[in-house]
Amino acid sequence: MRLYLLQMALNETSETPVPAYLIQTDDGSNVLVDTGFARDAVGRAGWRLGEEDLIVNQLARLGLTPGDIRLLVCTHFDADHAGGHDAFTASELVVQRAHYEAARRGPHAARFAGSREHWDRSDLRYRLVDGDTELLPGVELIASGGHVPGHQSVLVRLPETGPVLLAIDAIPRALGEYTAATRPIGPYDADEAGVRASTRKLLDLAAREGVALIIHGHDPDQWATLKKAPSSTRRRRPAGDIGGARRDGVRGWGELSTVRLWIMIGLLVGLWLVGVLLHTTNRFIHLLPVLAIVLLVWLLTNGRRSA
Ligand SMILES: [Zn+2]
Repeated sequence: MRLYLLQMALNETSETPVPAYLIQTDDGSNVLVDTGFARDAVGRAGWRLGEEDLIVNQLARLGLTPGDIRLLVCTHFDADHAGGHDAFTASELVVQRAHYEAARRGPHAARFAGSREHWDRSDLRYRLVDGDTELLPGVELIASGGHVPGHQSVLVRLPETGPVLLAIDAIPRALGEYTAATRPIGPYDADEAGVRASTRKLLDLAAREGVALIIHGHDPDQWATLKKAPSSTRRRRPAGDIGGARRDGVRGWGELSTVRLWIMIGLLVGLWLVGVLLHTTNRFIHLLPVLAIVLLVWLLTNGRRSA
């Protein structure tokens, strides 16, 4: 089981991320959690969101097409979570019944009208679930309404890292000193009592299950520390599955190494050329090209692992 963190968009001022997640099971099933903004948000002022960040293009970089996604977990239908659902006509879309019904009609429906063309389509195949549900062995849906009716979070049991809780917007930022009773309520939280109850439920679950990591839905500070799957905006970073990679799952050393290596190689080659030009007889100078070659080999093998 592997978990990939996909950065669908990033607010340029607050650095607030819009994530999606890909879970790959050992038997080769792909489970996608959310799809980010729709194509019409590309280039929107204040957001780092290019054509290359759309879910279909992020999957392509992982060697996947929408047809490879067996299950699409819909945490909720806000525009930053459901904008790409219309591409997944071959998948089974799994949503809480309470959310599906609230989004389609009633007092909450207006909130989801803007993204409705992407999630309410006759060619999308939904499975409606009621409450906590084991989706697959090691992947559990946790009902966590409050932010919106029928919101759901996801518990993923990674073999080496341990259980990871994708809290999504039920706990969008780390609580720090706050508790479920005192945490701030956001402007988009529909129901304060529900938010507090779901926060408590998720914290209790995390304690009970020994959750190794709670990934928050929109936390810029936490997001900056997590290893993401490759994208054009982060081209130099290594592939970002955190499954079975606890030691480097939080802070990848490799993120800047390619740039640094090129600079080092440039400096070494420069020194060597200066030595040649000055006809120096210092034998140490002759070691520099050897060092440069060693570094180059290291760079090339590192690059291949990251591809
Ligand atoms: Zn959100």
